[in-house]
Amino acid sequence: MKKIFTTLSIAFFVASQISAQNQSRHAILTNNISLQTTKALPELVEEATSTETPKRKCATPILDDAYENWVQAEIKKQEQFANSKKVSVVYNIPIIFHIIHTGQAVGTGYNLSLTQINSQITRLNADYRKLNTDFSTYVTQTGLSSIAADCEITFCAAKVSPTGSVLAEPGVDRILASSKGWTNPPYTASSSYLENTVKTGSSWDPTRYFNVWVTEMGGGILGYAQFPTVPNGTVPITDMVGMGGAAATDGVVVNYLNLGVSGSANAPYNMGRTLTHESGHWLGLLHIWGDDGTSCSGTDNVSDTPNQGSENYTCPTTNGAVVTDGCTTTSPGVNYQNYMDYSDDKCMVMFTSGQKARIQACMANCVRRTSLNTSTVCSVANGIDENTSTIEMTIFPNPTNGELNVTVDLLNTQDFTISVINTLGQTVKEVKQTQSNGGTVKIDLSSNSAGVYFVTLKSKTLSKTKRIILQ
Ligand SMILES: [Zn+2]
Repeated sequence: MKKIFTTLSIAFFVASQISAQNQSRHAILTNNISLQTTKALPELVEEATSTETPKRKCATPILDDAYENWVQAEIKKQEQFANSKKVSVVYNIPIIFHIIHTGQAVGTGYNLSLTQINSQITRLNADYRKLNTDFSTYVTQTGLSSIAADCEITFCAAKVSPTGSVLAEPGVDRILASSKGWTNPPYTASSSYLENTVKTGSSWDPTRYFNVWVTEMGGGILGYAQFPTVPNGTVPITDMVGMGGAAATDGVVVNYLNLGVSGSANAPYNMGRTLTHESGHWLGLLHIWGDDGTSCSGTDNVSDTPNQGSENYTCPTTNGAVVTDGCTTTSPGVNYQNYMDYSDDKCMVMFTSGQKARIQACMANCVRRTSLNTSTVCSVANGIDENTSTIEMTIFPNPTNGELNVTVDLLNTQDFTISVINTLGQTVKEVKQTQSNGGTVKIDLSSNSAGVYFVTLKSKTLSKTKRIILQ
């Protein structure tokens, strides 16, 4: 909910103030002079005790009015664009997980299995395309379901490193801490060591990759994000101007116990929603309750989210019943189901249209975000440079409901293969043609899940890749 501020907002990093393991969010805010301060801080979970369930807590920064003006203007532009073009804008984000371990076998301890990492990518793609099947369980009010949005963001596992070598596991960069000369985890969230030694020493080009570091952080911290760098005048996220950080630290850090939906993921934060939430910050979203303690004056600078006193913990209901508080006293109630609240993973199930507008504005304008959609690191295969000029390949329809027609025009007769690759880097369809100079190949994807796919045409020496959307 957007509200009017009269107080001066002073934005600055408070990371050092939240590094103490048992510091509460209340202490963080009062140390910040202004409750409208908007800097991203780590997501905290209080230390578990034998009698108490851990609670999600966050220390991602808060924003100022300039950023909000930019966001609001950009939302208008996005709405105008959508209305005039009636074109679906789906942005794709290549992702790389830097798994920091201390020598454990793959699938053990810090060294998470590929299956667990892939389950996180699948979760992101479901949540950001509103394909998550748990949505209807927790969102039963028309007033909330009507504002729930498909954010039209997809994520794909990077297939090549920044130097062009093919990754053994798509989307995964396993790092033995000692091989970099680092001390072993755990690391203190937002600490200089984690920021300037670990992240800076392992970041991949943030104009082509979304960097996600997976390690153990002290204090039971779930994760934290770096806000985007927002150009002046970018509506509707002008409140975020000046909030971003350095390129070398751009990305998200997630605790290894809270990544993905299988393996070592720990309940109640074991459904991959920590990265859904942190990616939201990384794309320009604030906490839904406005980071104002329990008052009704704070804002997330989103017009359609209900006003909300403070963060929610656990799942206030199990059946989607209306939940109200002192700031929203009537139906449809507060939006504890929002990914930007602190609820348990199982009942965090939606973004709103207003939040989508901020995300889309950021993808269209933010520094190091605008180039991600055209990054080719998810589609370059086997070291062959893509888009060789002597192949023509057209694909229709795109988006498709299942049937694909791939028309190929080769200069010479040769063997070639058409592969359809999903966002996890897995080949889901393959068609081989021998001694052919092209023609139209029909591919049926009707039994595959909706989402983004890469269609790669490859011969012995040539390669071409195009991205398609299956609806
Ligand atoms: Zn947060």
